[in-house]
Parts: sequence; C-alpha cells; structure tokens
Amino acid sequence: MTVTVNNLLVFDDDPSMCALVEDIASSVGYKARSVNTSDEFFQVFGDFHPSVIVLDLNLKGSDGIDHLRFIAENNSTAKILIVSGVDQRTLSSAERLGRSVGLDMLGSLKKPFDINVLEDMLQGGLAPDAMDIDAELPGAIESEQLLLHYQPKFTMDADGGVRMHGVEALVRWQHPRTGLRFPDEFIPAAEKSGLILPLTDLVLRQAMERVATWSANGLDLSVGINIPARMMNDARFPDRVFALLARHELAPDRLTLEITERDVMTNTETAMANLTRLRIKGIELSVDDFGTGYSSLVQLYRMPFNELKIDKSFVIDCEGNEEARSIVEIIATLGHKLGMIVCAEGVENLATFQFLRDLGCQRAQGYLLSRPIPGEDIEGFTREFKPPS
Ligand code: C2E
Ligand code: CA
Ligand code: CA
Repeated sequence: MTVTVNNLLVFDDDPSMCALVEDIASSVGYKARSVNTSDEFFQVFGDFHPSVIVLDLNLKGSDGIDHLRFIAENNSTAKILIVSGVDQRTLSSAERLGRSVGLDMLGSLKKPFDINVLEDMLQGGLAPDAMDIDAELPGAIESEQLLLHYQPKFTMDADGGVRMHGVEALVRWQHPRTGLRFPDEFIPAAEKSGLILPLTDLVLRQAMERVATWSANGLDLSVGINIPARMMNDARFPDRVFALLARHELAPDRLTLEITERDVMTNTETAMANLTRLRIKGIELSVDDFGTGYSSLVQLYRMPFNELKIDKSFVIDCEGNEEARSIVEIIATLGHKLGMIVCAEGVENLATFQFLRDLGCQRAQGYLLSRPIPGEDIEGFTREFKPPS
C-alpha cells in the first residue's frame, strides 16, 4: 500500500480565507482542513497530523507566535506557511522566529496575495515521496525505525485522588523521508499484510524493556499494549509473553493487553484459550474502543476481560452532548455490573473528568492529563504531574 501524507491545516479567523486556501490546497493534492479558533487549532493539530500548516498572524486574542511555539514544542515536522496582512518586515521576522525554534518554514505571503503564488508555494510543500508501506515497513521493523510514545494512564480514587498507575504504548514510525508518522497511517496496512505480527512483537519487547528500566529507577508502572486479533489466534503467543515478563523480572499485572471490541467479536477457540491462560497468570485484559464494535452481552460475559475502555468518541463528546453522556453512563454501569474496571479514554476537559469520576469510572486517560510522550520524558512527567482542578 502506498500513501503520501499531504494533510494541510489552515488556521485563520476569516472563514472566507480558510475556504479559499482549502480550495487551492485540495486542487494541488492535499487533504485540507481549516480552523478559526485557537481551541480548535490545538484539537485538530493533535488528531489530523498536518504535513503543512497555513497560519495567519492577526488572530483574535493572539498573534500567531504562540502557535508557532506550540507547533515547535510538539516536535511537529509540518512545513509552515505564514499568510497575513501584516507588513513584509514583520512577516519576515515571524518567519525567522519560526526557523529559530526549529520549524520547517515554507515561507510567508502577504495578504492580499496572488492565487498562483500560493498555489506554487503549496506545490512546494507536497511530500516529495510517497511511503510504500508494504515495501518499507519490513525494513523499518528490522532497523527499529518504529518507536513508542507512552500516554499516562490514571487511577481515580473514590476519595477524589488521582494518581498515575501506568502508560499505554503507542507506536510511531520515524520515517527517513517523511518524518514522524502516526499509527492510523500504517497499522491498517500492517494488519492486511500480516506485518502486524512482527510489529507487535517489537512493541512488546520495547515496552517491557522500558517498564523494566523505569522499575530499576524506582518507578513502578504498568504498560498497556494494543494486540490485534491475529496475534491472539496464535497458540504460542501466551508463552512468548510469559518469557518476556520473566526475562525482565516483571510481575504479570504490570502488563495489560488491549484488544478492540471489534477484534473480540472475531475470537476463535484458540483466542479464547489464550485469553484464559493470560488472565490466569494475572495479566490484565482490556476491551478497547468499547461501544463501537457491537459485541453482545453474552460475548462480553464469557470472555475473561477485566477492564473496559470506553471509546474516546463518546468521551470527547461528553461536555456538550447529553446523548454521549448517556452512552458513557450506560457503558460504565455495564462494566461495573460485570465486575470490570472501567477506563475512559479521550478525557479532554475538567467537566468530563469530574463527570466520569462521579460515575465511578476507576481509570482515565486523555489530553487533559497528558498526551502521549516519549519514554524518556515519563520520569520527569511523574515528578511534575499535578491533578487537574
Ligand atoms: P487507541 O488504542 O484507541 O489509542 C488511543 C489513541 O487516542 C491514541 O492515538 C492517542 O493519542 C489518542 N488519544 C488519547 N487521548 C486522547 C484525547 O484526549 N483526545 C483525542 N482526540 N485523542 C486522544 P494514536 O497514538 O494516534 O493511536 C491510534 C490508534 O492506533 C490506537 O488507538 C490503536 O488502535 C492503534 N495503535 C497505536 N499503537 C499501536 C500498536 O503498537 N499496535 C497496534 N496494533 N495498534 C496500535
Ligand atoms: Ca488502545
Ligand atoms: Ca481506544
């Protein structure tokens, strides 16, 4: 499978300008989106993974420089194009500032501009090479271009306390030509080709090694790993996991295997036996993305899972949407009635966090608490973490 990642994000408080840039970007081959406010920008930036950002400097309540800093602090490899009505000297100095904080500046353009010039500049921002995932991923796995970021997972105590108990390992691909790639771009292809098996083995090895290193430094954390259905259908899988735990002298409850609700549905007899063996040993088993896969209550009841992760799509919508809140409440009740630990992911704001705590959800994960971060930053994070209030 070949993919070229050309996502373009426009940030301008003038909707007609957004529409114009989006049109031109689409016509030269980008998948384009636009945002009008800072809040929207921060949100979409994290999920859309733009390869080009078109940024206005005169924004309501901000001068755009904060946004340049934000992009740099998030280690984005996006190319930046500044488009603004300010004078050329100011534009150039903003461009220099961008470079000085390590950003890849595509250039700047003074409004009003010639559409052909914008078109040429956007052409220049197109990724030079497509990634041929099927051809390149095997080499990437071998040369360990795949790396893990870790998103902190928290326990919400009944008395209102919050503490970090673990992390979820999330794979990224440091691609030599196109920069840091996110799993949604290559996991589906890896699932199709079967490369998901060596990929998952690598993730398991890297994550356990990291957990063992943290432990050696006095930080005991558990780690969640995303496991595809295929892996669970391999009768030798549990023994490989037990061997890895033993090699790193880690207790089984330091490992959580996350399997999506969709994959749980396709479980075979082998998978069922594997799950049971893993759970008997004390490894935690989590149903991921719950609420999207249409599993039946009977299936859920029969499987030895001990954690239910409410899909982030419902959690993200909690703040302004009563239906989403009802779904979250029903899932939490279901999980609790079945004796499972309920974890909410996608917790982005304090109101949702408090709502979940009031529902009795025991665990939470989300941008409010922390985004996924490199493994070497976790120890610093645990020292500096302050519960949201
Ligand atoms: P997931 O297992 O549901 O992982 C959570 C995803 O939600 C992560 O995206 C995380 O960055 C994002 N997220 C966490 N908190 C928030 C929040 O508050 N708001 C929003 N909008 N998003 C949030 P990421 O890292 O891009 O991973 C996407 C998916 O790729 C994962 O979804 C998982 O299904 C898959 N994936 C990631 N790593 C692996 C892996 O090692 N193996 C396999 N098989 N799949 C993986
Ligand atoms: Ca997961
Ligand atoms: Ca999930």
